[in-house]
This record gives sequence, structure tokens and C-alpha cells, in this order.
Amino acid sequence: LADRLDSAWKKLRGQDKITQSNIQEALREVRRALLEADVNLQVVKDFITEVETKAQGAEVIAGVKPDQQFIKIVYEELVQVMGETNIPLAQVEQPPTIVLMAGLQGTGKTTATAKLALHLRKLERSCMMVATDVYRPAAIDQLVTLGKQIDVPVFEMGSDANPVEIARQGVERAKAEGVDTVIIDTAGRLQIDQDMMAELAQIKEVVQPHEVLLVVDAMTGQEAANLTRTFHDEIGITGAILTKLDGDSRGGAALSVRQISGQPIKFVGVGEKVEALQPFYPDRMASRILGMGDVLTLVEKAQEEIDLADAAKMQEKMMAAKFDFTDFLKQMRLLKNMGSLGGIMKMIPGMNKLSEDQLKQGETQLKRAEAMINSMTTQERRDPDLLASSPNRRKRIANGSGYKEADVNKLVGDFQKMRSLMQQMTQGGLPGMPGMFGG
Ligand code: GDP
Ligand code: MG
Repeated sequence: LADRLDSAWKKLRGQDKITQSNIQEALREVRRALLEADVNLQVVKDFITEVETKAQGAEVIAGVKPDQQFIKIVYEELVQVMGETNIPLAQVEQPPTIVLMAGLQGTGKTTATAKLALHLRKLERSCMMVATDVYRPAAIDQLVTLGKQIDVPVFEMGSDANPVEIARQGVERAKAEGVDTVIIDTAGRLQIDQDMMAELAQIKEVVQPHEVLLVVDAMTGQEAANLTRTFHDEIGITGAILTKLDGDSRGGAALSVRQISGQPIKFVGVGEKVEALQPFYPDRMASRILGMGDVLTLVEKAQEEIDLADAAKMQEKMMAAKFDFTDFLKQMRLLKNMGSLGGIMKMIPGMNKLSEDQLKQGETQLKRAEAMINSMTTQERRDPDLLASSPNRRKRIANGSGYKEADVNKLVGDFQKMRSLMQQMTQGGLPGMPGMFGG
């Protein structure tokens, strides 16, 4: 019966697998969103191909249109590709942790150096900043001023010294003074340039940094990919900071940087002030990249429908009298996600006339039930009859969950009653679909 129910359900709901043809519209939508967010074209192509392959043949959850579900898959993949969680700055056991900043001129390296130092200081990690940009007259002053502002020492040797030498001595000083983290600010050029790369490579060679952070301006757009490739190939980066996200950029550079280098974005800059630094969160960035418009609404809608579809599936299972404690638990969690018992009660015919008090009481009872079900073995959850026939098992569950044996007895008894009620309902056929499934 269950199988027949299942296939009939699918026929009622339409397509049951994601195929190339039933996601065409969604594909176009996603591609457009990514390009509008300034994700590099090649990165977009690779990403879409990857997601398409992954999604092919995925079961469509009843009640959700394939293209809606596809967009949800895209969103989740985007979060995953960008690293799922925030990855903090390295901290070595034998200080100092050495951080080398890299990037083009004007991207916000010097500002990010100070922002990072302030961020670490708030985490009680002592810092020193090293000024190696000897090419622009004001660059050293800029860092010194920022250092005073945030009360972090700056190591500098004037603008006649050699940048590699400054970096080397700066790290020596940091070691001697026992600071936790030393951040080396470097010079940039307006464009990628061999001298700059050679100097960076030399500094890296000499100080052996634990982190090489590429500072990328979020407004860089399409170019972010090439930039990342060059820096990663020639220097090797361990992470990135995406700056100027306070502007209107949708932040597509984040995806490009991550896809090309495989290294995580660790922070984002969201303003000119030294406090304007935030840890990078892949889920927030995924929403931003997909945009506030239609796509995100669709994702949210899909999510809602998936919840509803889950509930519908459960109801179907109830009817088929295959409902067990695992389903019961799952349904309770679903209820919690939806926020209230009232929400789901409305979906069950004849159960929508409960008062506030009754609902509250119901929720308390559900909590108790959850604690007891948590104390059941997998086998017991699957086969409630096991419990009905064994007082010892019920006693064990009472002890495990901290409730009385009488409570467990009642739970099991009520459950059995509910199941037989469901069975009676099924024998009469599904409401609204008389005769469809035989007798
Ligand atoms: P550098 O050449 O890479 O060292 O860049 P700077 O740190 O000197 O910054 C260049 C300009 O960008 C300055 O005017 C900064 O105030 C500005 N800037 C840096 N980070 C951000 C940010 O996250 N948001 C905004 N709006 N401006 C920033
Ligand atoms: Mg600078």
C-alpha cells in the first residue's frame, strides 16, 4: 500500500526528479544572479555545471517544484563552496603568529592591517604591525597614525630602508618582545607587477609567515579571479580579506576568490573605520550573492514548501499506519522549526479548534514525550509494539528520561490508540480520494 501511495502521490504532484529540462528557468535565474553579483564568468560556468551534475536525479520532495528545489540546492552549494563556517585567523603555539598582507594598491591593505590588529587585541592577542611600504611617502605615517589610534606598536625603519630587511627585523623585534601576532603591511601597485611580486615573494621567503592574506576590494568584480590566480600561483595565499563590502557590490568576488584559490575568506571590511571588520560568514555571503530579489524569495518559498511537504508526507505515513516513534520525533522537531503547535494543527482536519491553553498544554506534553522517546533504542522507536509488550523496557525508559513509569505507559498507550485510529481511517480510504487505492 505504501508504495502505491507513494507513486500516486508523485503523479499527483508532477515531476519527481530534477532533470536538465525541468530546471531551465531556474538555471537562467541563478546564472544571472551570479553574474550580476560580479562573480567571474568562468567561475559561474564551473559552479553551475557542478551544481547541475550534483542535482541531476535528486528526488524532488513532494509539493516542491523541481526548479525551486534546484535553487535551494544552489544556495546550499554556494554556502558549502565558500566554506560553510567562518575560519578564524591562525594562531601558532610558539608566538609570534606571522601574518603577511598582500594585494593591489588602494584595496585597503593598510586599513585592514590595523583592523585586524584591533580585532586581535579585543581577543586579548597582543600585536605589532610592520610598515614595509617605502614607496608611497605617506604610507608609513598612515600606519603609525592608525597604530596610535588603536594603541598597537608599529615597527618601521623610515622610507630609505629595504622592505625585506624591515620585515625581517620587524619579526625579530616581535619575537624579542613576545607579542602574539605580527602583521606585515606591504606595498601594492595599481596593477599586478613583477617587481611587486618579487618583493612579496622575498619577504615571504625571509619571514616564513603562517598566514598570507590577500586583500581584495569587493568592487574589483570580474577581475578578482585573475588577481587571485596570479597571487596564489606566485606567492601562495592562505586566505583573503574582502574589503569595501559596505558599498553596493553584491560580493561575488568572494566566490571567485574561494573557487580559484581554494582558500577561505576570513574577514570582510565594511567601512573606513578601524572597527569596521567582521568575520566572514558563508551563509550570509551566499544570500548576498544570490541577491535580495526574486531568487532569494524563491529559496525561502522552497524552504517553506519543503517543510510543508515533509508534514504532508508524514500525514500520508500516518494514514498508512506505518507511523512510528521516529516519525513522531521527526514531526515534533518539525513543529519546533515551525514555531508552534498551532501551525501544524491547522493542517490536520478537525484539529484546528484548539484553545491557547490547550495548545500550551500540548506543547508541554510534546516536550515530555520527546524526552521519553530520546531514551528509547532505535529498535523500540521503529516498533512501538516492543514497548507495549515489555514492562522492563518501559521501566528502563522511565529511569533514563527521568519520568515516571506511569508517564511512559501513558505515552505508549496513547501512541497505540493513535495508530489504531489511523488504521481505521485508512481502511476507509484516504479522505478526498475515495477508492483510489483499492480497499
Ligand atoms: P592600501 O593601499 O591597500 O593600503 O589601501 P588603504 O588601506 O590605504 O585604503 C585605501 C582606501 O580605501 C582608504 O581611503 C580607506 O579608507 C578605504 N577603505 C579601506 N577599507 C575599506 C572598507 O572596508 N570600506 C570602505 N568604504 N573603505 C575602505
Ligand atoms: Mg597601504
